[in-house]
Amino acid sequence: MEKRYLFTPGPTPVPPEVLAATAEPMVHHRGADFRVVYERALGRLQDVYRTRGQALLFAASGSGAMDSAVANLTGPGDRVAVVVAGAFGERWVKVCTHYGLDVQRLDYEWGEVPDPAEIGSAVAASGVATVFCTQSETSTGVVSDVQAIKAAVGDARLVVDAVSSLGAVPLETEAWGIDVAVSGSQKALMCPPGLAMAAIADDLWDVLPPSRTFYFDWRATRRAQEAFDSAFTPPVSLIKGLDVALGMILDAGLEAAFERHVRLGRATRAGLKAMGLELFSPDDDSSAVVTAARVPEGIEAPVLLRHLREKHGVTLAPGQGALKPSVFRIGHIGWFDVFDIASALAAVELALTELGADIERGVAVGRAFEAYEQRVAA
Ligand SMILES: *Cc1c(COP(=O)(O)O)cnc(C)c1O
Repeated sequence: MEKRYLFTPGPTPVPPEVLAATAEPMVHHRGADFRVVYERALGRLQDVYRTRGQALLFAASGSGAMDSAVANLTGPGDRVAVVVAGAFGERWVKVCTHYGLDVQRLDYEWGEVPDPAEIGSAVAASGVATVFCTQSETSTGVVSDVQAIKAAVGDARLVVDAVSSLGAVPLETEAWGIDVAVSGSQKALMCPPGLAMAAIADDLWDVLPPSRTFYFDWRATRRAQEAFDSAFTPPVSLIKGLDVALGMILDAGLEAAFERHVRLGRATRAGLKAMGLELFSPDDDSSAVVTAARVPEGIEAPVLLRHLREKHGVTLAPGQGALKPSVFRIGHIGWFDVFDIASALAAVELALTELGADIERGVAVGRAFEAYEQRVAA
């Protein structure tokens, strides 16, 4: 069997301890065996979110939590604002439009960093009560300053898509006053896909309109979770895995995770630049989740990705939307270390050479290690 390498920003590699937990014999979800795991996992989830508010858990991919946020926070015809700077900002627009909202788009070019002050002025001018944004726009590698966005939108509620950022870059949900932050299991949380979560600020509960979704009803979910029960049959095996993964993250410390992600981003950028490639994502420490780069002239990104997968067993992520022909992405969230980055870079270098690009061989990995070795100033 050929060895396979997964260097995508979701699903991400899953540690063996987590996989082992998901393979344990089944237990009944209303019994004492499961209750212990559920209670611990929910507590750990609050710790990773850095909130004492409720963190709800759903059987869904990350988009399920996004859907739940729109369906629980809004009524038909409500005016909302959405910050759009990539594929996942567009997803907020699609969900909001599906639920019949009047959407004020705050558009940025893909790859541009949204400007909190500009967002604040636009929200003040329109007077919308709810703003949706994306902390880590996985399609471009841009990480927004959601603390500054929350400060800028004043009394408007801020709903943050933290699907690829929770556990990778700082998110002080409670301290920053983030009203809702949604996430998913298959990115920095080092789990298989299938769990979605939403952290909800305490003061929202009294003002929620009736839920427009039955399955993702926040009140019903909260009532069940408060008794360490679940509204429906939960994905028991995934929750066992999540419990172990969150325990690993918290044992090593969130600050250590944030620092590792910054250094992995530096290593990836240094290596790609050493190959002479042009970065698409920002060339600074904010870009700690995924690195997007342009292919050299004359080589199509889908051809590079197919070559990597078929010839070398290496999976990288494609560009999204209009970036598909020209951009590829290397993920470095969750269970990644510098050797993963070295392997990904070495594979890109080899594949590009095989496809006829003029790349200086043997430099990228060295540069990546040099960049990784620099400590991040506290
Ligand atoms: C992965 C991701 C999602 C959710 O995608 P699902 O496929 O539904 O899990 C949402 N937002 C961002 C920024 C993501 O990276």
